[in-house]
Amino acid sequence: MNTTIERRKTRQITAGTLKIGGDAPVSVQTMTNIPIEKTDATIAQITKMKDAGADIVRLAVRNEDAVPHLKTIIKSTDIPLVADIHFDYRLAIASIDAGIDKIRINPGNIGEKWKVEEVVRAASANNIPIRIGVNGGSINRKKYDHVTPASLVDSAMENILILEEYGFSDIAISIKSSDIFTTIEANRVMSETRDYPIHIGLTEAGYGTSCIIQSSVVVGHMLLQGIGDTIRVSMTGDPVEEVTTGIKILQSLALKPCPVKMISCPTCGRTAPDIDLLEIAKGAEEEITSKFAGKLEAAGKQITVAIMGCEVNGPGEAREADYGLAGGRNGSMLLFAKGEIIRKVTIGDAIKELIDQIDITLDI
Ligand code: SF4
Repeated sequence: MNTTIERRKTRQITAGTLKIGGDAPVSVQTMTNIPIEKTDATIAQITKMKDAGADIVRLAVRNEDAVPHLKTIIKSTDIPLVADIHFDYRLAIASIDAGIDKIRINPGNIGEKWKVEEVVRAASANNIPIRIGVNGGSINRKKYDHVTPASLVDSAMENILILEEYGFSDIAISIKSSDIFTTIEANRVMSETRDYPIHIGLTEAGYGTSCIIQSSVVVGHMLLQGIGDTIRVSMTGDPVEEVTTGIKILQSLALKPCPVKMISCPTCGRTAPDIDLLEIAKGAEEEITSKFAGKLEAAGKQITVAIMGCEVNGPGEAREADYGLAGGRNGSMLLFAKGEIIRKVTIGDAIKELIDQIDITLDI
């Protein structure tokens, strides 16, 4: 079965070291949630985001006092940074002068045309792309009473036309609402209207499981249609979780390498006694990832590891995987590698035995 997603061809833009659109991999974005005046805390958060796998990070630049802090933050990291600007064109220009890699504005709320022109001139001179971000709160309220796909796309187009009027095409677009159907339809229409790279996400998606599910539905749906060049999971809480969730969405669609793919059963009445399968699955994933994921990714390889609860259905899945454990009798588990039973191990030693087996047989 062909599992390759045919992605829509978009114009490519560059933000610092990151290419967005064209044939570039889909990138994962997030946004700091600390005022940038708290410089050290912001830098620490950006470092965590980068370590978690973020490709690009956005920061809100709210006033002129924030600009010196922005400069310090830019110097402290090599991850591409985006300045989020509203209303004051001078903040956009100051951020560009400070060395920002990309800016996010709504030309519509920057004010007079000459102010937008100033921003465009500075962005052009420094090869800085501009992301136009429209969400339910920024539709043109003079024209529209409600947030609909049409009002979102039309409001985005008003902003795009302003930039295009100045011959500026280094553009990324994001159109988001908190409604799944509205967001999907608006992005579908937008993708047929212009070939600028599109940033996909559901805004104000809540927190925890609900956010993860709703965001996965929207982002997954769009990506499966080939639409989306960069994504963000907007989550109330720790933004590092946005990054790990975004990466998992991309991995589940084979749009990002997944060096360690874990399979585990839901457990049931047949689960062998004394086995805490969740603990074994989590422990195994953590250790396998920390020990082998880097090497596997560098080699462009993936391993599948199955952690199963019983000797009824467990062995079948464990045999299909590269490595596996399946619950057995009398406090034991069966260790599998490459379709074969290797040996019986105790539950307490199961993770260690699995790691040792991977270590001696992994061909990288
Ligand atoms: Fe139950 Fe065994 Fe299936 Fe796990 S593998 S859900 S323990 S039957």
